[in-house]
Amino acid sequence: MARYTGAVCRMCRREGQKLFLKGERCYTDKCAVTRRAYAPGQHGQGRKKTSEYGLQLRAKQKARRFYGVLEGQFAHYFEIAERKPGMTGENLLRLLESRLDNVIYRLGFASSRKEARQLVLHGHYTINGRRVNIPSYRVKAGDVVAVCQKSLSLDKIKGVVEANGSRPVPKWLDVNRDKLEARVIELPNREDIDLDVEESLIVELYSK
Ligand code: SF4
Repeated sequence: MARYTGAVCRMCRREGQKLFLKGERCYTDKCAVTRRAYAPGQHGQGRKKTSEYGLQLRAKQKARRFYGVLEGQFAHYFEIAERKPGMTGENLLRLLESRLDNVIYRLGFASSRKEARQLVLHGHYTINGRRVNIPSYRVKAGDVVAVCQKSLSLDKIKGVVEANGSRPVPKWLDVNRDKLEARVIELPNREDIDLDVEESLIVELYSK
């Protein structure tokens, strides 16, 4: 399935919650979820009756859209999550959360996951001192993620870091704002992940 190129705010409205896909706008009153808190389209304000399958599908779509991954990639993450010990749903969210593009966004080194993905692709970040340009790269406990030395003087990077510096950083990441680097203390637990989704519904969907 191709990447969605339509209006991204529609995705948030469809899922009924902010997915933070647009950067700074998401934190203002201009957010479409704040202004029009109902599903998009002609029947968006109609009476909703959702089947069990519908609930499972929405949970999967919400998580997939939140992290900006394609259908096939998401299914691949689920397969890995299933093979790992522990709860599959939690494993799945941990895998998604440990993607480099997500970590860059969480650290406030990018305005959105989409922007983080682009900046990673352009080689603006390092892991343990080595430049990594793969957005799906999975960080590990102990890794040091930093803005590349050469990129520190770029206006684009300076602007992004300044604009997002006040955003709270999750406790599994230890950030040093002066050096623009952070250490992954540990991989996140479920309570560290602020995505409001019932991951068990995703597991049910894929277990059919
Ligand atoms: Fe979603 Fe951001 Fe658009 Fe609000 S502004 S609807 S959070 S993408």
